[in-house]
Amino acid sequence: MKRVEIVEVGPRDGLQNESVLLGTAAKVEFINRIVAAGVRRLEVASFVNPKKVPQMADAEEVLKALPRRADVTYIGLVLNRRGFDRALAAGCNEIGMVVVASDTFNARNQGVTTEESVAAWLEIAAAAHAANIRAQVTISTAFGCPFEGEIAPARVVELARRVAAGRPHEIALADTVGVAVPSQVSELVPRVRAALPGMPLRCHFHNTRNTGIANAYAAFEAGVEVLDGSIGGIGGCPFAPAATGNIPTEDLLYMLERMGVQTDVDLDALLEVGRWIQTQLGRPVPGMLLKAGRFPKSAQREAALAASLPFASNPKSQVRA
Ligand code: ZN
Repeated sequence: MKRVEIVEVGPRDGLQNESVLLGTAAKVEFINRIVAAGVRRLEVASFVNPKKVPQMADAEEVLKALPRRADVTYIGLVLNRRGFDRALAAGCNEIGMVVVASDTFNARNQGVTTEESVAAWLEIAAAAHAANIRAQVTISTAFGCPFEGEIAPARVVELARRVAAGRPHEIALADTVGVAVPSQVSELVPRVRAALPGMPLRCHFHNTRNTGIANAYAAFEAGVEVLDGSIGGIGGCPFAPAATGNIPTEDLLYMLERMGVQTDVDLDALLEVGRWIQTQLGRPVPGMLLKAGRFPKSAQREAALAASLPFASNPKSQVRA
């Protein structure tokens, strides 16, 4: 049976791009609910300038309040060494660093050139190895940039080679602004894999132009075994103000489950988390499965329903002896 690992990014990429500011307790509850649904690896905060990203200002407090479990990995996203030091001190189990394929985007996002971010990553990677903490790196705008337009696959492959020198736990290819189409994914993934045999790859898609799930399928077909999702599809895109966020985790899970792919995440429980975050944010979220419901109906849920209504399924049994 094929397997895909789901990395939930709602508490970071999702909430970071929501206008509603969730309190620390609500964030912690969100994360606990996600873990209870079976997700074992998730981005819980980004350690960035709180003046620029007020949604993540309580990163340390969130980490402090999270229950520690040997089987759960809390990822802290960082953009530089200072962020890494904060994430390490806060007790993250894994560090995610970002290097942007587009120089212009890199400068806007993290205030330095791509070259400087690569150098920062190599320093962070060495520090992470020394501290015995897992570190991975994401290549952002790998499929297109709002400022520079198309990004040549050769550029992404070259960057992947360079960041691989830091021996990352994995390399992620991110469609940061949601412009990718599946044919790009089908082309880029094998090229990166050919350049770096054996390097674990992850993909991160935004549904800004409704191609996110198709891209996730293309990544799966190309052999990518780790995919990011955001429950409810919460979040957005700073470069497309009315846009939706990452691909909704539950929609992704629905597709994978129906394809017979194992994830170990409970879809019904995930849908409950989607409903919960919807009320927390006070707006309908973009996820489709939350509106349509799953198919076929969960056998477990049906069984539970039948058990709670012992005479409902068989009219004859309503006759008591
Ligand atoms: Zn993202």
